[in-house]
Amino acid sequence: MGAALHLAHAEQSTTAPERKRGGGGGGGKDFAEFAHRIYQDDRADADSRRLLLAFAYVITMQPTDSAKEQFANLRKAIGRDERHRYTDHLRELIRHDAPRYTPPDKRAGDYDPCVGPRLRPFKERPYKAEQMSLPDRVEQDKRDAEDFRNTENVCGAPGKHRVLEKLPGTGWYRWHWFCQRHRDHAVRIAEQVKAQNEAAPEPIPNNGGLLPCYFDANWPKLYKHYVDWWEPPVYGVRADDWPTPGKQSVPQRARLRLVIGSGGMEDA
Ligand SMILES: [Zn+2]
Repeated sequence: MGAALHLAHAEQSTTAPERKRGGGGGGGKDFAEFAHRIYQDDRADADSRRLLLAFAYVITMQPTDSAKEQFANLRKAIGRDERHRYTDHLRELIRHDAPRYTPPDKRAGDYDPCVGPRLRPFKERPYKAEQMSLPDRVEQDKRDAEDFRNTENVCGAPGKHRVLEKLPGTGWYRWHWFCQRHRDHAVRIAEQVKAQNEAAPEPIPNNGGLLPCYFDANWPKLYKHYVDWWEPPVYGVRADDWPTPGKQSVPQRARLRLVIGSGGMEDA
């Protein structure tokens, strides 16, 4: 865990051998500090904030040596949610924080459009001048001009063949789709990116990994417990440690110790 400062450890070894239960003024001050940091963290969306704040609250205000009690407190702190009546909300939130790479969203819609080159401009509905009023024609021309098939000059037919492209520095990848008509194109592109893909590193995670930035625990074990098929990234589990092109890394900060360490996950 490197040189990270563990608040609980530091306190234990210097000033407070016995911890007050029920959260005294110190706990409140710690909580306020962590809440402040969490609210300042642009990487955290609403779900992540909810999770981080619940962890901060439970660790600072409800000290316990029992992992079981801690997780019961976490569930209480997260609170009931109508959307999660039949699922384990804590589990969902921890999954949401699993360190991982997420490729860019595919275009909204129910199919992946072919990115083969377009030869003629796309028209939503070819019209005959006499069949449509001038304002309607102007309106449709405007829509057609703004359509991605024209702005990006791509075919846009439903994709059938896909080609993986990995970026050299980051290992970030995306799929390029091609329709039946652009099959040859797909084969050519696949050949072009072959060497690049083989040389690309494992993708740098770009999602999750916030819990380990604030709290100290055996995160690989904990994520594994909650997330099927999850494996720790070679870049580590902390979002602070991941290199992001064009961005400076986040400086190391104090982290709170979670009771749950190498102990079992008895809550599930
Ligand atoms: Zn096509």
